[in-house]
Amino acid sequence: MEGQKRLKAASVLCIGTGGLGSPIALYLAAAGVGRLGLVDADTVDFSNLQRQILHGTKDVGRKKLNSAKDRIRETNPNVQVDLYDEYFAAGNARRIAEPYDIIIDGTDNFPTRYCSNDVSVFLKKPNIYGSIFRFDGQCTVFAAHLGGPCYRCMFPEPPPPGMVPSCAEGGVLGVLPGIIGVMQAIEAVKLIIGIGEPLIGRMIAFDALKMKFREFKLRKDPKCPVCSEHPTITDLVDYEQFCGIPQAKAAEDEEVPVPLIGARELKAKLDRGDRFHLIDVREPFEWEICHIPGARLIPIGQLAARMSELDSTDEIVLQCKTGARSSTALRLLQDAGFSKLANLEGGIHAWADEIDPTMPKY
Ligand SMILES: [Zn+2]
Repeated sequence: MEGQKRLKAASVLCIGTGGLGSPIALYLAAAGVGRLGLVDADTVDFSNLQRQILHGTKDVGRKKLNSAKDRIRETNPNVQVDLYDEYFAAGNARRIAEPYDIIIDGTDNFPTRYCSNDVSVFLKKPNIYGSIFRFDGQCTVFAAHLGGPCYRCMFPEPPPPGMVPSCAEGGVLGVLPGIIGVMQAIEAVKLIIGIGEPLIGRMIAFDALKMKFREFKLRKDPKCPVCSEHPTITDLVDYEQFCGIPQAKAAEDEEVPVPLIGARELKAKLDRGDRFHLIDVREPFEWEICHIPGARLIPIGQLAARMSELDSTDEIVLQCKTGARSSTALRLLQDAGFSKLANLEGGIHAWADEIDPTMPKY
């Protein structure tokens, strides 16, 4: 009874209503947490449904927040659900996070991760961390105010932009966020009720393929820029800039635009039997779904190592799903001295739309 009252009196902010946010919000609502804040500015897409179980086929095209609220209400109409239809960032993080006891990070991008970490340190609130990629997931509780480490103790600086693929690009086993999100929800319930040993200073790594959990100790960095005794960062910063996203974009803008080729033009080239290489830089699992006849698969992560398979004097057309990754690949080849390059505009989706309507889109 005492624990249930504490749950009812508690408030939890869940950043993201996607793969992790779905089980987190559903279970916390079912457990009777009194107030749930949800932050998300996206709309539901068909490709989300394999893991984002808050949303259904009838919700495709709707705001994720509205769909999430309806689903939570079905489970527990007595939960106060606050909706924040915005991206969690320096400008709004304090306002959004302030009213809640616990912050749960259910996002998969670095700017939000650093932002939610820093705001949690500054507001002295626990930040329950979860991350998923392909078949692996991790979970821990950052609580610098309780003597534990924070995210920046582990990763003071973000990786270079574009080096770590997102779940949408790299793929994720749809069931995996169910495990990691539920672990995050369990930690929230434990913190609220005050039972057990919280995951502070410990990280659980889950390997779905081996079905193994491992535990790592996380240590507080005495020189951490935000949570140490003498922090060098004492307020929120521009996290997009910190993670190098605008610089990378600006650098691209300064360069000459990437040479493009349309799907029809590419088809004509293939039909004529022109001498050129069509390189597909997607992942093997995407290739299995569909590929353009005559294309050759070199996933973008292998391109630098396998460049010797290509001749810099040959004509090369690069292609991915929508044209973004192949544009990065084109720059990589340009920097290596390749000159006869073109990027398939709109990627294989454009090919499916304009040339082969029987090709499955994903
Ligand atoms: Zn720290």
